[in-house]
Amino acid sequence: MPLSAAPAPAVHLAPNLAAVQASLSPSLSQVWASLQPALLAEFGAENHAAWLAPLRIHSATASTLTFAVPTSFFAQWITTHYQPRLSEILSQAAATPITLSLQIIPTFSNLPTTTAASQPAAQQPATQPTNQPEWLQGSRLDSRYTFAHFVTGKSNQFAFTAAQSVAESLASGKVVYNPFFVHGGVGLGKTHLMHAIGHTVLENQAKTNVLYLSAEQFMYKFIRALKEKNTLGFKDLFRNVDVLMIDDIQFVAGKDNTQEEFFHTFNTLVESGKQIILTADKSPHELANIEDRLKSRLSSGLTVQVHAPEEETRLAILQHKAETLNTSISAEVLQLLAQHIASNVRELEGALNRLVAYSRLTGEALTPALAQEQLRDLFRTYTRVITIEDIQQKVATQFNIRVADMHSPRRTRDLARPRQVAMYLAKQLTSSSYPDIGRAFGGRDHTTVIHACETVVALLPRDAKLAENVQIVTRTLQGR
Ligand code: ADP
Ligand code: MG
Repeated sequence: MPLSAAPAPAVHLAPNLAAVQASLSPSLSQVWASLQPALLAEFGAENHAAWLAPLRIHSATASTLTFAVPTSFFAQWITTHYQPRLSEILSQAAATPITLSLQIIPTFSNLPTTTAASQPAAQQPATQPTNQPEWLQGSRLDSRYTFAHFVTGKSNQFAFTAAQSVAESLASGKVVYNPFFVHGGVGLGKTHLMHAIGHTVLENQAKTNVLYLSAEQFMYKFIRALKEKNTLGFKDLFRNVDVLMIDDIQFVAGKDNTQEEFFHTFNTLVESGKQIILTADKSPHELANIEDRLKSRLSSGLTVQVHAPEEETRLAILQHKAETLNTSISAEVLQLLAQHIASNVRELEGALNRLVAYSRLTGEALTPALAQEQLRDLFRTYTRVITIEDIQQKVATQFNIRVADMHSPRRTRDLARPRQVAMYLAKQLTSSSYPDIGRAFGGRDHTTVIHACETVVALLPRDAKLAENVQIVTRTLQGR
């Protein structure tokens, strides 16, 4: 059935629209997250990765946004190079004057907090030109995200090979695995692999209509289409698509209307033999708040996982990256970074970019000592005492829940499990007692903590995914 002939979704969706819109009423931090693609386009990928992506929101009021920055150099740099323009952009987006301020917090964490920060630079059009309004068009592919620039190791070899084989099949006009589903933690190369498939297809078959969208964009476009009564225009976006790529689909979880529309789009395309490529932070079956029928559709093709790279691969990635940056950095410094920054590739790249920028600007030689000094926020956990709060924060990030959920009384599985993991790690990595830990988790009883520890201990040998998550969090906390 052609998409245009599908029933207009507005009929059964309209009653919930108000609720959806209410949940969209933008706070400054949401505005900031939504601006990332525009900032990337304006300042370029290198600058964005080095200076803007690391900015963490410290606090926000209606008219002031305060960022945490790691060093005074960093603060100075932002003030002179970015502050005026950032306030301007923010004020425009928020439709009210916004003041930016900076707070130097040497121990702040540089972990990515928004998926929007990973939006690619606008470089190569992924879609054929259309007469759609701009907001109804797809996003662009980042020209750096090619197979040639993807460094492989044990952690990602299988995902890489599978992605290449999907790309090659498509290049010769065949859809073999549908959908192709890539999952894994933040900053581990999912978007990169997805774009690489897009590039390969377009290089071989320039006429292929490749549409790339983040799930977030899918949702915003869909909601805007409902608002502007242009659902046909929304459907038109997918009408001639040969390859649909939707990034970070965990984002549609729990958003019923969007999920429904996504399911519909998905089925229509699969039925007409079009390729769908998806990424998410979890495997289809682990995705929370996604309908079972959608889960089973999602896992009906080929599902692959990208894992956190081991030290050897981290080093190879840094070497590759240093080459493309055209800078010579001593093996010692690269090694230091590979040793200390274990969580993900984005953080690794961010660290390298920052060092290179600093040394270009100041003319100082890039020594291990300089690296230690300039990246102390990233290295901090190496020598620091780990607190329960650190653990709660890292576990929340890893499991994609809010830190507040660590304290909340809600006991749904998707919250309870990460909470148990955090309690277990608190026992392992701090000197706190069971009652101390219970108090730090919303005043829970010490028996709950004991039960949590026992549960996790029992699960670890049986649940490889959980074990990996625990390992990643532990490594991040210990700065290994
Ligand atoms: P994800 O989508 O999984 O969050 P990305 O694909 O955005 O992660 O990757 C984050 C950054 O790390 C990107 O700049 C990407 O190019 C880089 N990257 C990730 N994995 C690799 C790899 N194996 N080789 C080279 N660069 C990588
Ligand atoms: Mg991504």
